[in-house]
Amino acid sequence: MDKASQTRAAQLLHHRSAGLKKGDPISLPIVPAATFHLPEVAGASHIYGRNGITTWEAVEEQLALLENAPCVSFPSGMAAISAALMATLKVGAKLIIPADGYYVTRVLSEVFLAPFGVEVVQIGTAEYAAYDFSGAAVVYLETPSNPGLDVVDIAAVSTRAHAAGALVIVDNTTMTPLLQRPLDLGADLVVAADTKAPAGHSDVLFGHVAGRDAGLMARVRDWRRLSGAVPGPFEAWQVHRGIETLEVRLERMCASAGVIATRLAAHRAVANLRYPGLASDASYAISKAQMAGFGFLIGFELLDEARAERFLSECPYIVQSTSFGGTHTSGERRARWGDKVAPGFIRLSVGIEPLEPLWAAMEVALNS
Ligand SMILES: *Cc1c(COP(=O)(O)O)cnc(C)c1O
Repeated sequence: MDKASQTRAAQLLHHRSAGLKKGDPISLPIVPAATFHLPEVAGASHIYGRNGITTWEAVEEQLALLENAPCVSFPSGMAAISAALMATLKVGAKLIIPADGYYVTRVLSEVFLAPFGVEVVQIGTAEYAAYDFSGAAVVYLETPSNPGLDVVDIAAVSTRAHAAGALVIVDNTTMTPLLQRPLDLGADLVVAADTKAPAGHSDVLFGHVAGRDAGLMARVRDWRRLSGAVPGPFEAWQVHRGIETLEVRLERMCASAGVIATRLAAHRAVANLRYPGLASDASYAISKAQMAGFGFLIGFELLDEARAERFLSECPYIVQSTSFGGTHTSGERRARWGDKVAPGFIRLSVGIEPLEPLWAAMEVALNS
């Protein structure tokens, strides 16, 4: 993490301090308000629960510090992605999305956007580098892609997309703003599922959109208010608490993932391992240039479905669940969702367990 990100991570732990009065709680109050005292509208800080409540505004302050940009929060990652797409697309617009990215984004585009006259074009993450973006309104990308972990050069793609007249939206969920900063690399909007590492405890869904273009962000904000996709106060409070430890959790998770990826890659039962931090990985050079850390996700193949399922069920320190970025190491066979991967392909999300007991448990399960 660079010095500026470290400063922002420190600031976020104290972002409410200046506003505290003697006797105020240090922890963030949960404000479950639908209505506010409103003798007159002019000058009111809060009007109605769909317009804004203090509990989500506090999370947005944290996120704005991390992104170094204004942020609008949402009740899930998909709500944030929907807002970014609704804010940037219209009838007849061409949308480029990754064929190998988060599958719900593809389904949303095909099931709801295409019937409204959006031309949805799916391309492989590896194809972004050379793809002709002519005629596109929005170039949407995800890097590293989930679950294949291919990496796109965000700055290069942004330059070419802008030259073609398109806006660039980056799904930064797998990295978080501490590890990758798409806005600094030229993206117009960042979308992210804070359900994953930022909230971090596998107990809440949340998302946000970040951007520095005031007009675009006003549309994102309007979409939230008009569609009603607003976060709840308790969920916002959970996310606020999670984000306070994001930096320290990421440090452990990324360090462990680097060691585990190296050891897994050397194991005879493992094939086609992907981790952007391995010097042997196809994405290493660009990852090193554009990421402040290599993340906590590892993709690899075991021989077949049975072998992969056995590994996952026999390792006591891997929870079998979908999703990633939680405190617990988790893993799943992505083919069970129809991802275009080998039947024995596992996506592993390394958690905060101490490294050696975690690896020892994985090694026993691999060798069984
Ligand atoms: C999980 C995820 C989402 C969706 O987030 P939800 O909070 O589940 O709606 C979007 N993009 C990526 C890359 C994800 O991993």
